[in-house]
Amino acid sequence: MNDIEYVKQEETKTELSRTQRFFLTIIIVIECVALCFIVATIVYIFAPDEELPVSSQEAYLESHIGEESRLQTVGQKEQRQPGVVQEHAQSEHPEKSQVENHEQPESEKHEQQQEEDQEIEASETAEADLLDLNLQVELDNQESRVAGAIYPKPDIDPDKPMIALTFDDGPYDPVTNRILDILEKYDARATFFVLGLQLETYGETLKRIYSLGCQIGNHSYNHKYLHSLSVEEIHKEIDNTNNLIREILNIEVKIVRPPYGSPNDYLKEVIPYPLVLWSVDPKDWKSLNKDAIISEVVNKVEDGDIVILHDTYPTTADACEVIIPRLIEDGYQLVTVDELMEYRNISMISGKVYYNAHRK
Ligand code: ZN
Repeated sequence: MNDIEYVKQEETKTELSRTQRFFLTIIIVIECVALCFIVATIVYIFAPDEELPVSSQEAYLESHIGEESRLQTVGQKEQRQPGVVQEHAQSEHPEKSQVENHEQPESEKHEQQQEEDQEIEASETAEADLLDLNLQVELDNQESRVAGAIYPKPDIDPDKPMIALTFDDGPYDPVTNRILDILEKYDARATFFVLGLQLETYGETLKRIYSLGCQIGNHSYNHKYLHSLSVEEIHKEIDNTNNLIREILNIEVKIVRPPYGSPNDYLKEVIPYPLVLWSVDPKDWKSLNKDAIISEVVNKVEDGDIVILHDTYPTTADACEVIIPRLIEDGYQLVTVDELMEYRNISMISGKVYYNAHRK
């Protein structure tokens, strides 16, 4: 081999080597591109979403908004989960699921209502116990005054004329107290047929009525037309009011005046108390006129009458400012229904209606 051939061979070797390097470089580049593509694909697949996961939302809210917002977020999440289950259930058993979806909230609501009712009852019982305790203390303090309410009062002259003024539908503090002021001023007494509903608000006024020697009668709880109620409903109307009076004063009521009067045989049979109506009715609720009320009472009244008025109208209190001193001036003793019947030797029994105690 001469020198020229040797050089050519070497050049050929060199050229082959360059060709190999060229392809090798291309392969490496392709591999790099493929690798980058794979890495990019992996990153794309496993990269987190832009929206924060719930736990991160909670952490964010906790640190930025506060506990209340966090609880709302958690609550929403907890509500959402059963919703998903319900949707599945609906698609699988549509009829059953509809029934379940309808009934379940109702029963839950009922249970919740029961729980709430129990809580209210418990708090009411606690309040009632506290009220009882306070009333007992007050009654103990008032013992001498309340004792003055024992019937019949010794200051009544049985030979002199007497009248029983009665007041219905209270107590109603603004008017009842005005009437009590007048009765107290003239040392007179009356009978108050009270509503249980009013006692819920004006229990204190009831204590003042009794402490002044006046009589308490039952006028039902809600002032419903008792004639159209069932026996149970009538008893409830009467008993609820009696219970309140017993709680407040620790006394038993002796007489009932049914709302709207006119007791029929049904009421006489069902209500286990003597029923007290009236013989003079100035219709104070209708006229709302002081002079008309005064005139109706003063001109029509006679010995042994029972007068019906209402301690719920200011005009009635206005009229009483004149009526009470006028009747006393005319020689009448203003007494309770109990006293009137006692001094006229009338025994009151349940199932009977009493309109007056006129002398026979
Ligand atoms: Zn009434």
